[in-house]
Amino acid sequence: MKKHTSDAKIILNHLGRLFAFLKDLDDNTGIDESFSQPLEIIRKTMMFDVSVLYRVSNIIENRLILEVVKVIDPKGLRPDLGEGGKIRLFLDNPDNRYVNELSAFVNRAVSHESVPGPGCDIIGYVYLPESFGGAYLFGGDFCGRESSVKYYEVAGIEIICSFLSTLLMKTQFQYQAEIDHLTGLFNSFKIKQKAEIVVRRFERKPLSSACLAMGDIDFFKAVNDTYGHIQGDTVLKKTGEILSSSMRSVFDVAGRYGGEEFLLIFDETDEDNAFQIVERLRKTMEATAFEETDKTGKRLGHEFFHITMSFGIAELTKDSGIKTAADWVARADSALYESKRNGRNRTTLYKEI
Ligand code: GH3
Ligand code: MG
Ligand code: MG
Repeated sequence: MKKHTSDAKIILNHLGRLFAFLKDLDDNTGIDESFSQPLEIIRKTMMFDVSVLYRVSNIIENRLILEVVKVIDPKGLRPDLGEGGKIRLFLDNPDNRYVNELSAFVNRAVSHESVPGPGCDIIGYVYLPESFGGAYLFGGDFCGRESSVKYYEVAGIEIICSFLSTLLMKTQFQYQAEIDHLTGLFNSFKIKQKAEIVVRRFERKPLSSACLAMGDIDFFKAVNDTYGHIQGDTVLKKTGEILSSSMRSVFDVAGRYGGEEFLLIFDETDEDNAFQIVERLRKTMEATAFEETDKTGKRLGHEFFHITMSFGIAELTKDSGIKTAADWVARADSALYESKRNGRNRTTLYKEI
């Protein structure tokens, strides 16, 4: 198939949609989505088969290491670009498939090859200060269709790169405002906001119920006292990983509510199902062996300890009387208190108390 003749005017019109997207990017746009949509708009605008965003993750001597952040490849033409994958490129001996990437990186500019090949046809360089994630590369591939890249397509990529800089900055600001840095989960502000969104949604469409679970590590003070604060932080980090990996990615969200307290939201889930998920989580926590570290945080590798966690669950239903996220959290908290009172390492439903 021949590359459709793209027209500068069409490109400019399409770029307006990118601008509109950036303007409307709000708090509810997930970080993942905030890349997918612009990359898809760019792919359509430039008539690429594939659009891709790389982060320059490291430069070690003559090696450039790129991380594939996001790929839009509806026809599956570039299986070599797996999201989250790392690509190692030798600056002094370029791999033919990544010659544009290297050239854009070295020249800090847009780069394009006029010969069609297996690599991306046009790559743009996006620079952000180090605290905002450093350098990124954006690439578009016509996948071997007509070779010649037109001057306005190159100019289009320059404009797109400046859009992407704005988007990346915005995403980074958003990330810093929403994420708890120790655990990588949503922070207290964001998780409460997520709970409020579910309550509002339920008010409009009270079709299926939702559940909120609050979890608290048992005797966590003793972890700090026995093994030190750094070990305590390591436990919190690992707990965050266990919580997020045990949840269904689309419907459920997890956040750190306070010190060693976590909130989990299960939208469109009744309390029987939420109870099952939380019990599974509680058992995973119980079974996890935490490796001891010395006071500097270095792993010792031979001593292990176990911790447990208590949970409380509150269901949001038509007659629950829950009007705000604060009501909902308070109920989950009472149920959690009941778990603590009954000996810890257990899950209690609010209706049981
Ligand atoms: P319980 O079973 O009743 O929940 O007992 P607990 O010891 O877990 O509860 P308590 O509320 O008495 O202690 C919580 C401890 O959590 C106290 C505080 O030092 C510790 N903590 C809070 N935030 C952090 C943190 O970010 N890092 C570390 N290492 N410890 C923290
Ligand atoms: Mg505790
Ligand atoms: Mg606590």
